[in-house]
Formats: sequence, C-alpha cells, structure tokens
Amino acid sequence: VESAQFPDTEFPIQNLPLGVFRRSPEELPSIGAAIGDSILDLSACARGGLFESDCRAAGEACLGQSLDPLMALDVSHWSALRRRVSELLRSDGNDVRRNGGRLRALLVRMDVVEMLVPASIGDYTDFYASVFHATNVGRMMRPDNPLLPNYKYVPIAYHGRASSIVSSGTRIRRPSGQTSGGPAVPPSFGPCRNLDYELEVGFFVGTGNALGAPIPIQAAEDNVFGLCLVNDWSARDIQRWEYQPLGPFLSKSFATTISPWVITLEALEPFRVPAFSRSPGDPSPLPYLSDPANTEHGGIDIDLEVLLCSGSMRERRIAPVTLSRSNLRDMYWTAAQMVSHHSSNGCNLRPGDLLASGTVSGASEDSRGCLLELAWRGEKPVLLPTGEERRFLEDGDEVVMRGRCTRPGFAALGFGQCRGMIDGAAEPR
Ligand code: MN
Repeated sequence: VESAQFPDTEFPIQNLPLGVFRRSPEELPSIGAAIGDSILDLSACARGGLFESDCRAAGEACLGQSLDPLMALDVSHWSALRRRVSELLRSDGNDVRRNGGRLRALLVRMDVVEMLVPASIGDYTDFYASVFHATNVGRMMRPDNPLLPNYKYVPIAYHGRASSIVSSGTRIRRPSGQTSGGPAVPPSFGPCRNLDYELEVGFFVGTGNALGAPIPIQAAEDNVFGLCLVNDWSARDIQRWEYQPLGPFLSKSFATTISPWVITLEALEPFRVPAFSRSPGDPSPLPYLSDPANTEHGGIDIDLEVLLCSGSMRERRIAPVTLSRSNLRDMYWTAAQMVSHHSSNGCNLRPGDLLASGTVSGASEDSRGCLLELAWRGEKPVLLPTGEERRFLEDGDEVVMRGRCTRPGFAALGFGQCRGMIDGAAEPR
C-alpha cells in the first residue's frame, strides 16, 4: 500500500492497529488492520485461509464481529497475528509476489467505511493518573491543600458507564441535569452550562483474570491488548453538585468517545520510556505496585493533542485550533500499576474491558488536558481565531483528539482521531 510509506502516514506497516468496520449499515462488521489509507480485511483473510499454523487461533478469532475473541487469547497469539499481517503486507513478501492481486482485493479504502466501537466493553473504569491534573483541579476546590493524602499511594479511579461509550464521530447531545444555584437558592434542573472534554488514553484489557485472582504487577502488561484515545465528556456544573460523597455519576455517564483503532503494545515497544520519576519527597509505591521493569520502561511516550473547531470557525473555513498538547509519559501511574491495582482486591478484568488513564495534563499551562483547567474554571477564557471565547464547550463545537509516537530511527505511528461535535440539549418533555 503506497500511502503506508508516506512519511506523514499514521498507519505505516510498523503500526497495524486493529479495529472493527463495516462497509454499510446492511453489512455485518468485519475486523481489520489499518495500513496507510486502507484497511486489510482480516475477517476475509481468515475466511480465505491466510491464517494458518501459529496464527490459526487468532485467525479464527477474526471471524467474529468484535475484537473480544482475539482479546480473550494471549500475547503469543496477538504477536503471531501481527507477524502474519506484516508478512502479508510486505511489498517484497512471498504473498504479495505470488498472489498480489488476491491480496489487493482484501483491502478496503478507509474513507468509505464506518468504524465501530471495537470491543464489547463490559466494564469501563476511568483513572485519575495525572498528578498535574489532580493538583490543578484540587487547587480550585482547596487552594491550601490541593492534593488529597491518598493520591500518591492509591491509583484513584471511578467506575464509568460502558454502554454509553461511542465511536469517534458520533454526535454528543448536551446533557441536562441538576445543578446548584449556590447556598441561597434551591438547585434546578436544566441543560448543562459547563460542558467539558477530558483528553485521555484508554487501555483495552486482553486475557484478564478470574475473580479472586489478582494480577501481579510483573504480569500486568500481558493483560493489556492495546491503546486508544478517549474523550471523557464531563458536565462540570452537574459534577460539582453531585460528586460528594460517591464520585461522578450523571456528569460523566451521558457519553464517552473513543478512537476506533486499537494500537497494540507490541507496536508501541519502540516508544517505551521509564515510569514517571517521582519527586524526592514522594513516597515509593507500595510493594504490590513496585517492579523494577515497570520503573525502567513502564511509561509510553505518546504525544497528545486536543483541537477545537467552533461552528463559526467551520462556517468561515478556519482550521481547527490546538488547545493543548501533552504526553502520556507524564502520568504519575503506569498502565501496569493501574491494571495491578484494579485487580488487587480480586476484582476480575475481562477481555474487552476498558481502563482509561484520566485527563492527561502536564506541568505547563499549555499542556492542560481539559477546559476546566485551561480556562481555569472560566476565569481565563480561551480565545479562538474568530475572536470567540471559550470557558466551556458551546453547541456546534467539535473536539478532536490526536496521538502520535515519534523517535529518531523509527517509523512514526499515529492513533487516528477521536472526534465529537456538541448538539443542543434535548427539549424538555
Ligand atoms: Mn476522566
């Protein structure tokens, strides 16, 4: 695929992310691997007998309509499939030389298909792993004591709503809910006025553990199938009123958007970096969250970006503007620590479950991963090229998230896009 060799492609042969697509609403979904501007239809490859010997089981898993059966296998099967797909696509490979025409017929153009949520996502957990985000948000509530005493010991999370996770491009209706009018007036119900996004990275669980059998940190990454981008849409005014004492509920459950391509951990291997280096005064993680290998390369270097396009920018054909850039390597907790902590009480993680990192914010002001932080509760509105100001999201705003991995001497990988546009609130009934 010629486009897979362009230097700016997100999907060179070194990436090969997996996803689920369909050609039309009438057709059954297929499993595919992204390559350049195309998708190799892995379901069709499997039906055509192209996955034999060590990738036979993975090939059979590709006959389904979601990645769940593949995620339920283990890392050796994921690796065998990746090796075989790479071999099929090599321009100098035996398959292309002997049977290039037949392989070409198994490629689909990416711009003519619909991408679906790639797994069933039985459970969705959202962490809070950026110490910069936690400190900024904490400072707004408690200026003298921003970070709660548990933060540096416990990877904090809440249980999210799996059934309202939608694929990139799905329109998001502004939620309505109960908000406080301040101490002097009773609360009221109406459209959210402080709608926000949160830039996050998701981890899909593969293999998983039986109930009662915690995953040790040394084995945690074997239970991560791959990564995607996540937008944890948040209604801040609803959240502020409802979150105590049990955490977010309706302020988050109305929708979560994910990017459709799952980038495997194997593809991300060249971009592994040490875990976040804690300040000298910080406690070490407790032993069940400590592992020398995790300290050495538990982090992943992924550049992340949020862009916004307002309705009026779109009308005037102004390109989306970058709101912030941050990097997953700045998270206080690694994926392995989150997996291990989640299962440490015996809780089972199942193939297709989604864990999200929490808002990825860095140390600098331009790396803040949500509007609440960027515009500091509305006190420092963000200026758009049209002269419009944003404290929170307006109807017609489209939020686009992107991720990219680069390292000298290695092919750059992209995550594709995680996008969503805000529609007005539903009419009251
Ligand atoms: Mn979140």
